[in-house]
Amino acid sequence: MNLLDLDPAGAEKTIGAWVSAHGLPRYRTEQIARRLWQQPVGAWRDVSDLPATLREALDRDLPIVRLEVQSMELSSDGTKKFLWRLADGEMIESVLIPSGTRRTLCISSQAGCALGCVFCATGRMGFRRNLTVAEIAGQVREIVLRDPTDRPTNIVFMGMGEPLLNWPAVDTTLTILNHEQGFGIGARHITVSTVGIIPGMERLRARPEQFRLAISLHSPNPASRIGLMPVEKKYALGDVIAEARRFGRRVTFEYVMIAGRNDSDGDADQLARLARPLAAHVNLLPLHPGGAPGLTPTSGNRIRIFAERLREAGVEAVVRRSRGLDINAACGQLYVEMAEKRRRTESAASPG
Ligand code: SF4
Repeated sequence: MNLLDLDPAGAEKTIGAWVSAHGLPRYRTEQIARRLWQQPVGAWRDVSDLPATLREALDRDLPIVRLEVQSMELSSDGTKKFLWRLADGEMIESVLIPSGTRRTLCISSQAGCALGCVFCATGRMGFRRNLTVAEIAGQVREIVLRDPTDRPTNIVFMGMGEPLLNWPAVDTTLTILNHEQGFGIGARHITVSTVGIIPGMERLRARPEQFRLAISLHSPNPASRIGLMPVEKKYALGDVIAEARRFGRRVTFEYVMIAGRNDSDGDADQLARLARPLAAHVNLLPLHPGGAPGLTPTSGNRIRIFAERLREAGVEAVVRRSRGLDINAACGQLYVEMAEKRRRTESAASPG
């Protein structure tokens, strides 16, 4: 039993049953549950306001399962990139991006990804497996444990994997992130980013909280989008946009700018025609240099012209700075880089 796989109500129920089976007073339940997310601890033995025998029993019966930090890199712009090793040896990443009083944590929802977007390092890894709730929400927990001043104010599901292809775990994680007995992060500060998995978008829409939705668009027309994102074959752009309209809240379009692929004036005009009726906000992201073999980032000047054209068409467009450039902070890049280094070392060491 891993308590960190349960939503706060489920965890409280499980702890309550354990507390009563041990003949302990009921107030212990709340005291224990608070240490899962609100005031997290690394192990029950660290909870000084519980008796030593109780701490030992908890560590034995309901141990807290941790993510092991494999590496942490700090960029000159303050961005921190974490590579976590999971119990079965899989590795995932999280990126913490400070900006004024805001600390945005980008979390992973899968180890690897099956969708193979051509500009994405995670896509090149292929799919490894879905993450559990404890592994997704655990990324936030570990960061708070390492340094409480790093406690994220905003969460984006933009790390490794497609969150809406791991809906059951993402669904519970959303509850933990938002719940007052979880991390208590406002729903409007939590963004689920998808390539457009329509059944998952419907499920997110069915939740009563005001979670935000970002759509990885990256091209405004199906013919060119399919060359960047094979998922277009399964969930066509037109259907994704129709579902975004049903979402009923303002959505964001994410748009990685790639020279000669999606950055022409015509692309800007088509993008504006999609964004304007939805009042969608467009985030223009420079392609991470070196992140995608065979693709060239759009120049800074061209990105500015593209953004201006969108604004002239009445679309709110923001050019995002590429954060953490010196530490390869785009999703999957650190993992891919480490795997390549390992391969090089192994082939150098092999006699053949
Ligand atoms: S961009 Fe997202 S959906 Fe596409 S391959 Fe990368 S992780 Fe998967």
